[in-house]
Amino acid sequence: MNFALTRRQFMLPIGVVYMDGNSLGPLPKAVPDRLTECVTDEWGELLIRGWNEAGWMAQPNKLGDRIAPIIGAAPGTVTVGDTLSLRVYQALYAALKLNPERRVVLTDSGNFPSDLYMADGLLRAMGGDYELRVVEPEQVSASITDEVAVLMLTEVDFRTGRLHDMARLTSAAHRNGVVTVWDLAHSAGAIEVQLADTKADFAVGCTYKYLNGGPGAPAFIYVRPDLIELAEPVLQGWLGHAFAFDFTTDYKPAAGIDRMRVGTPAILGMAALDAALDVWDGLSISDVRAASIRMSELFIGEVERRCPQVELASPRDPNHRGSQVSFLCDNGYPVMQALIERGVIGDFRAPNGMRFGFTPLYLRDEDVMAAVDILDDILRNRLWDEPRFHQRAHVT
Ligand SMILES: *Cc1c(COP(=O)(O)O)cnc(C)c1O
Repeated sequence: MNFALTRRQFMLPIGVVYMDGNSLGPLPKAVPDRLTECVTDEWGELLIRGWNEAGWMAQPNKLGDRIAPIIGAAPGTVTVGDTLSLRVYQALYAALKLNPERRVVLTDSGNFPSDLYMADGLLRAMGGDYELRVVEPEQVSASITDEVAVLMLTEVDFRTGRLHDMARLTSAAHRNGVVTVWDLAHSAGAIEVQLADTKADFAVGCTYKYLNGGPGAPAFIYVRPDLIELAEPVLQGWLGHAFAFDFTTDYKPAAGIDRMRVGTPAILGMAALDAALDVWDGLSISDVRAASIRMSELFIGEVERRCPQVELASPRDPNHRGSQVSFLCDNGYPVMQALIERGVIGDFRAPNGMRFGFTPLYLRDEDVMAAVDILDDILRNRLWDEPRFHQRAHVT
């Protein structure tokens, strides 16, 4: 796989080593023209006709079909739109309704807070005696009992990169009659995901991280094909209706994945995502994963050899982590700010984690080595200890 060619498809500022694709992927070069075309030729010229003539109304499922092969899903099983937080809500509700006798949602403390908040809010809105059971990541397997209705997990931990074994946990869940909801926010485009093979029931994810769809790019939801006709939409928007343009007063869910659509798709964001997904044409996710592992191993080895001030927070075995690496560091926040000022962009997660993402689509071994040189310099010479690096921004 020639990643020099994929790198050329991204707009990267000169002098920047970008290691934060796990938060926001960089700009693919095809996006600006595609956006301009969508705005001027489609919106500008076609006006309302764009819904039919430019295929806007079909865009959510068309994009779903482009994402499907990246996550090991069949065509027609994924739709795109809304935010990931909303997709969690939809998937969890539908999953609970498939297991109506049970009341426990099992998740772990490594899950992303928004997933936990959405689950908490949903369970409260549903009334009754539902319980959100939050265990340590290592306890998940042992906590899958026949009391559990839904196992709701994020495959890759956003803080440490720790990777759950989706195949093993999904089959353990199924053996116990538990429905699964997987959040692929840090998986889609980063690691090999085999939704169809693992028989995962529901999956959700976002497209602004490793799929490079741009800030606030739409989320996706997957439902296993044999469950879709049973899946109850909690957000009964008109575009999830079987006959949206009949404008009837009662709701009837559409057949297939369409029932997970809610309202009018955000076409401009979808145009950007569509162009961003061109990068994946002809790309094999297993090649991406292999190169990502090679680079993260290089980084860990060099940092541990040269920077005794930091401590690896990610699993050491690359098969047990996603494509990001976290190091704990007492002054993690100012150190990261100093790194960013020197062009090495990662991010910081409280209380003291420095996070670095590794994707070969635009990151090279030489970038990794340059990042280690700069980190070493900053730590060794305490260059982080400047008042401007200690000032906390809203987004870290
Ligand atoms: C990034 C991320 C989110 C963010 O949700 P939005 O609704 O897109 O803001 C949610 N869950 C996980 C696991 C994430 O990594």
